[in-house]
Amino acid sequence: MPKPKVATVWLEGCSGCHMSFLDLDESLLGILEAVDLTVTPITDFKDYAFPEVALGVVEGAVANSEQLEIVKKLRGSCQILMAWGDCAVFGGINKLRDPIPVQDLLTRGYVTTESTVDGKVPTDPSLPVLLPRVKALNEVVQVEAFVPGCPPRPEAIAFALMEVVQGRIPVLPKELLHYD
Ligand code: SF4
Repeated sequence: MPKPKVATVWLEGCSGCHMSFLDLDESLLGILEAVDLTVTPITDFKDYAFPEVALGVVEGAVANSEQLEIVKKLRGSCQILMAWGDCAVFGGINKLRDPIPVQDLLTRGYVTTESTVDGKVPTDPSLPVLLPRVKALNEVVQVEAFVPGCPPRPEAIAFALMEVVQGRIPVLPKELLHYD
């Protein structure tokens, strides 16, 4: 039987959820035997040409126009979409910026910080545009599975992946839930 294909992305996050996955150490070998990892930061992909996959995984919230496009592409390419970590599940720490207007954020970041000299807000049209508010994954696309935690425990990630391998939508048992 062919192994289920998996694609993962990290968006507005710190990479900690993917690091937690790698923290499975030797248990990772069993998972890598059970799934076929395709587009993922771990395989150092250079574009977002997702193949059709059984499982799409998202770390991080959706905070700009590029991330929104990526997540919609992944949603269109996968049967099950899974949110890894509090940033994807709830928006996470990224949502601290929500009360501040985008222009004020950019001005503070690029112009008025104490260490900036002659700063200017970048205006290149190829740059992603910040969304007015940071969104959790399920605010922009349908999500079937949630693995909360900051980061989620490696065991929770392994459990969720192996449930998908066995044809089930994962529902984490209480002992694997981890809220920080
Ligand atoms: Fe990083 Fe925590 Fe967000 Fe994961 S949930 S991307 S570990 S801040």
